Amino acid sequence: MCCLYCGKDIGAFRLLRDSEFCSIVHRKKYGERLGKALHNIAEPEPAPKKKGSKDAQTGAWSLASGEAAGEEADEAPKKPSVVITTWADYKKAGPLLISTDHRGTADEKPVRISFSDVSVKVVGSENWIKAQ
Ligand SMILES: [Zn+2]
Repeated sequence: MCCLYCGKDIGAFRLLRDSEFCSIVHRKKYGERLGKALHNIAEPEPAPKKKGSKDAQTGAWSLASGEAAGEEADEAPKKPSVVITTWADYKKAGPLLISTDHRGTADEKPVRISFSDVSVKVVGSENWIKAQ
């Protein structure tokens, strides 16, 4: 009989106790090697092992948060497709007349759009003209 791990003949005395391995160490090592082999079959492309599980965790984290962000995007307020508002509170900013207060609906939900501060810079001018 030969050791399954190293291939050496198993001594007659040893053979009485173990017919497959020349020593307990080789039995154990064979088990480990078999375990690794099975592990490699289960995971053909294992993640880098020695670099630490932290990296793998970080990767998992960013993936998870990426998925969460994707879900959030669905639930986040959407850009309304139909916005109907009145135009009020006109202010004059330079040559432009700007309505700073809009009230109405966005996709049939009440909405108010207001501009708190409007300035205009005319081309060729260095100064911003505040709406008044
Ligand atoms: Zn052996």
